[in-house]
Amino acid sequence: MRIGVLAAQGAFAEHIAILHQLKVEVTPVRLPAELVGLDGLIIPGGESTSISRLMLDYNLASEIRSLAKNGLPIFGTCAGMILLAKRNSALAAEPLGVMDITVRRNAFGRQRDSFETELSIPVLGEKPFPGVFIRAPVIEQVNSEVEILARLADGTSVAVRQGKLLASAFHPELTNDLRFHQYFLDIVAGGTT
Ligand code: GLN
Repeated sequence: MRIGVLAAQGAFAEHIAILHQLKVEVTPVRLPAELVGLDGLIIPGGESTSISRLMLDYNLASEIRSLAKNGLPIFGTCAGMILLAKRNSALAAEPLGVMDITVRRNAFGRQRDSFETELSIPVLGEKPFPGVFIRAPVIEQVNSEVEILARLADGTSVAVRQGKLLASAFHPELTNDLRFHQYFLDIVAGGTT
């Protein structure tokens, strides 16, 4: 199994480290040629406008969009989730627009700009998952094909899956808990539907 990690900007090194812990072959992706032959792709957190611009500059956006449409499993965290969304409240640059969700950037305002909270994520088992939120977006709306995997205590959706596309508003790569990445690898392997 070979997983690509978009390495344009943001927290890509942390995703690569987790994938190494899970004994998976990793390709950092900066150019379209590096997308060839991947079994899955991770789009990290960072600054969605910068990542979006770099994806366009390096001709990655259209290639990733068509791979997603052809069934490539993709996992987007935080800014990565913003880029996967079909609709978002305020993003000037063009996102990938492949997941049927509406997101809102920087949804937590100043006081709760960044925070950590335990999340109940039933698909990962009973043990709570450490949710690390950094200037995070939220998911405002989903269509019927989208499964909500995690919510905050107030009901706000913060992790979703649509087929082989997975997205979280928080950063599993900044924790020692490997279960969210393992869940993505299970999707890649075809073991969870
Ligand atoms: N606030 C960032 C954005 O809107 C996302 C932050 C993150 O990825 N940690 O792009």
